[in-house]
Amino acid sequence: MNKYFIKAQDFETFVTKLVEAKQVIGPVAKKSRFVFEKLKNSKELRLDYDVTVLPPKKEFFPTCQPIVKFEGDKFEGCVNVEEKILFGVHFYDIKALDMTDLLYNENHRDINYMAHREAATIVGSNVQNIAERAFFGTVGVHVKPKGHDAFLTKIDDGYLFETYTDKGEALVSFGTFTKAKKEHESNALDVNNRVMGKCPEVLDYVGYESVANKVRKAFNNTAFWEDCAKDCFSCGSCNIVCPTCYCFDVQDNWNVDQVSGTRTRKWDGCLTEDFAKISLGFGAQENFREKRGDRFRHRIMRKTTYLNAKLGGPACVGCGRCSMSCTSDIADPVNVINKIMEV
Ligand code: SF4
Ligand code: SF4
Repeated sequence: MNKYFIKAQDFETFVTKLVEAKQVIGPVAKKSRFVFEKLKNSKELRLDYDVTVLPPKKEFFPTCQPIVKFEGDKFEGCVNVEEKILFGVHFYDIKALDMTDLLYNENHRDINYMAHREAATIVGSNVQNIAERAFFGTVGVHVKPKGHDAFLTKIDDGYLFETYTDKGEALVSFGTFTKAKKEHESNALDVNNRVMGKCPEVLDYVGYESVANKVRKAFNNTAFWEDCAKDCFSCGSCNIVCPTCYCFDVQDNWNVDQVSGTRTRKWDGCLTEDFAKISLGFGAQENFREKRGDRFRHRIMRKTTYLNAKLGGPACVGCGRCSMSCTSDIADPVNVINKIMEV
């Protein structure tokens, strides 16, 4: 839509005015890590973060979300939408939100997710520091982020602020912006291009289709998957921190009256032992991914092959969260894919 420039010395006032007027969720420091949290003031905002512990999808798809209240045979939805600005989202997390938007919108539209998503304004920001296990420079690079309303890039003497929607454009009234000059635009382009070559981890094979073919061919190599997963604790941390994972479990919690209650959904992860356990009725059960190797394979298949046709690329954005959260350090897609390509 439009490109603006704001001087470095005017930026804090812009954020202050936003925080005073709106609910703004941004990256804040928690000891040595970062989390997306409601900003109390502009000083809390840390656009120099590397990666947040949990991805910003938690703002639309909370870890535990009431979806229906019931009483006898009556029930009502619990969607309670609040407008918010998600400020400072890195491009790889915007790409992950684009995937979740698509997956929660196809076939049966997920109103619990979409209502929150549509009430939000997303402001992206350039990556100023790179997470220790990130590889976003070599995975799905042909897929560009598109679900944001504005994007901020820190350049020498201020910020380039690009708006893409009316919601993004509406934020301009909160700051002292001027029309961006050509050199601001070229500086920002340079900043955003340069970061792509600086990731600490590199996927040797950037062609996602060749990776997908090779991973598919490895499907029946049980020994390979068992070996990959031999140190897996089935904790599910690699699922929980992943911005492109979207599975959940649904539970009914009954009140003491045994008539009313709440149906809630909670994040779930395919690496946990119970994830694929189903009831066969009459007390019988089956777990169709009982072995760790099968569960490990399933996650890699989901990230590299199964969703590619729908998404137009892999279901991994290279944030590195899974590698950083895995106690055994076996979850890193780069290591697994590079190993598969050599088999
Ligand atoms: S984080 Fe590591 S140990 Fe935990 S389930 Fe994932 S691969 Fe297994
Ligand atoms: S699989 Fe790992 S690196 Fe890829 S998007 Fe998920 S958490 Fe990030």
